[in-house]
Amino acid sequence: MSNKEKILCVLYDDPIDGYPTSYARNSIPKLDQYPDGQSMPSPKNIDFTPGELLGSISGELGLRKFIENAGHELIVTSDKDSKDSVFDQHLSDASIVISQPFWPAYLTKDRIDKSPNLKLAITAGIGSDHVDLQSAIENNLTVCEVTYCNSISVAEHAVMQILALVRNYIPQYKWVVSGGWNISDSVSRSYDIEGMDVGVVAAGRIGTAVLKRMKPFDVNLHYTDRHRLPESIENDLNLTYHKDVDSLVQNCDVVSIHCPLHPETEHLFNDTLISKMRKGSYIVNTARGKICDKDAITRALENGQLAGYAGDVWFPQPAPNDHTWRTAPNHALTPHTSGTSLSAQARYAAGVREILECWFENRPIREEYLIVQSGSLAGTGAHSYSAGNTTEGSDQASKFKS
Ligand code: NDP
Repeated sequence: MSNKEKILCVLYDDPIDGYPTSYARNSIPKLDQYPDGQSMPSPKNIDFTPGELLGSISGELGLRKFIENAGHELIVTSDKDSKDSVFDQHLSDASIVISQPFWPAYLTKDRIDKSPNLKLAITAGIGSDHVDLQSAIENNLTVCEVTYCNSISVAEHAVMQILALVRNYIPQYKWVVSGGWNISDSVSRSYDIEGMDVGVVAAGRIGTAVLKRMKPFDVNLHYTDRHRLPESIENDLNLTYHKDVDSLVQNCDVVSIHCPLHPETEHLFNDTLISKMRKGSYIVNTARGKICDKDAITRALENGQLAGYAGDVWFPQPAPNDHTWRTAPNHALTPHTSGTSLSAQARYAAGVREILECWFENRPIREEYLIVQSGSLAGTGAHSYSAGNTTEGSDQASKFKS
């Protein structure tokens, strides 16, 4: 076994009423493999019950017993953005950082430079853009994530939000809760999705799952990606391929975004691209907030170029209380939750444990989990990301007050 490691784990807060003592359901379904045949996380053991809240600070990703029995130290905190945060205090001698995209501990260049012992950054989920990957490459860090753990969770959320926008669900729910029966108010922005053109930006694990789930709605499906899907999938789903995002958005009513955030995709949806969309289009973004220009989205909602915007990703996170999306018209946003359903948590907690077991025992981490290793993009990172930094501006997360 290697030397004693200090593991710094940043998780979101417990529920305001305290850590749950019971749950809505007694169990979650047991899945044997992911849709493409990739095997589920396979640690030697787990010390939690699948279906429990693991992603909050008391849940500790179910890791404490395992880490302490192995002779290592575990620090768990949600305090990541304040001046002299607990995260910053411990980072100076931590060797491993675990963080979730929902409540990201931004590993900026400045922080990496101040952490001489840091060797491994694990994303408990998917999407490692909260790490300055350029700096990770230059400092020989290993960055990995639990590939596929919550891809289907996100796909389900995206489909829910596509329907919520087009059918105008949220305002209708609000009328009921406020004691009304306002049918005209409810339906004056409500449409059928049948026959609409629905497209995804990136047809990776999530994007393809969204396309598959939208097919039974009898819509026309479109996609763009850096690599084209196999012909058999294009035929099965009757897909129209677009060589670039400009062509996609001009031919769609609904666009769902599923590419990673990297320098190529930062602010991809800006005023120029949005102005090329059909008037009254809908955007659902469950990929990363920074793929959209915040102010361009707000402007387009205000002037009607967009009929609606939904998703769950913001920049930075937590979103400052005055973030303009909170009060923009016709949105159906959630906080960043799609990939952290209780079902997803069980998978990524097991995946983090698998990665730590490999690390402590000097065994290779699965290729598909790797984003950066040995000074370059690796594994899934080499396929889906490009090098660079997208953490600029993350210090604004300190403006959030709960
Ligand atoms: P995948 O790696 O399976 O898919 C990503 C796809 O994006 C790949 O097909 C890749 O193309 C494509 N891509 C990359 N850059 C571009 C580009 N410039 N234009 C078009 N396509 C591009 O990942 P997942 O589908 O599992 O996840 C996608 C993203 O979703 C994650 O990176 C993360 O940011 C986000 N996510 C959000 C979650 C949430 O809770 N909201 C949870 C999980 C993920 P190719 O490989 O062909 O080059």
